[in-house]
Amino acid sequence: MAPTLRVLGSTSGLVPGASFCTALVVQSGGDAFLLDAGAPVATLLPQAGVDLRTLRAVLLTHWHADHSAGLPLLLQRLWLHNSIDAMRDGVSPVIAPLYGPPTTARRLDLLRSFHYLTFDGNMRADNFPLPAHDVLPGARLVVASGIEATPYLTTHWSTAAAEALRIHNFGVPPVGYGFVVDVRGTRIAYSGDAGSVDDCTPHLHGVSLLVHELGHFTGDEVGRVAALAGVPRLLLTHLSLRYHGVAGAALATDEVRASGYTGEVIVAHDGLVIPL
Ligand SMILES: [Zn+2]
Repeated sequence: MAPTLRVLGSTSGLVPGASFCTALVVQSGGDAFLLDAGAPVATLLPQAGVDLRTLRAVLLTHWHADHSAGLPLLLQRLWLHNSIDAMRDGVSPVIAPLYGPPTTARRLDLLRSFHYLTFDGNMRADNFPLPAHDVLPGARLVVASGIEATPYLTTHWSTAAAEALRIHNFGVPPVGYGFVVDVRGTRIAYSGDAGSVDDCTPHLHGVSLLVHELGHFTGDEVGRVAALAGVPRLLLTHLSLRYHGVAGAALATDEVRASGYTGEVIVAHDGLVIPL
């Protein structure tokens, strides 16, 4: 199967009820991985024909709910698969590491505890479906054979805002990530939530598809960055209300064109699938 990127949820947290919040799934061969999980991914993945057993990793940019709220049900769904179905049917458990910024492991432990997903004789640490890893910027993560990801820092939180959240983040200021992902010869960059459109600029070398959020910026701002980097394709997602719907997509495209960007412009909607 040719590699694809599917938009499971296309909006920022500011679009109540119109569509799902941010989640993307990349499929290549028999492997799949998630970029964020703000949408109900445990339902949307099977609905889209993505077998949960092909899930190899979840790459999480940060813990705001519009990027992470789908995790609890995914955890429970995979937990039940690993502790009941897999044991009964003698099939492999799903082990899809969750990679995210520092405190990710502690936060997932809290989720597990909050939802009564406690270890017992069936569900053990060695068949836990979403083993969580705190990863540092620049760390090279092997998602599957031929698929690697590297997180980079964004300025989603200002220094002052991050400092104010220290008390809610186990004593350390939270950080947000973007990811550069190599999918068997195709390099994509995913902005996560950015504080500046230039957060991604140092990481666009060799990138053929930039997936950039449009929740905090205008189309011309993002288009300028894509044009300067010479990125041939631009997918806009994590849309604010301004860019929702058919008219919003046209507006976003017009704004990107006004920046001088001449590459391919794609505005996301829930269910959109593009080839990589
Ligand atoms: Zn967001």
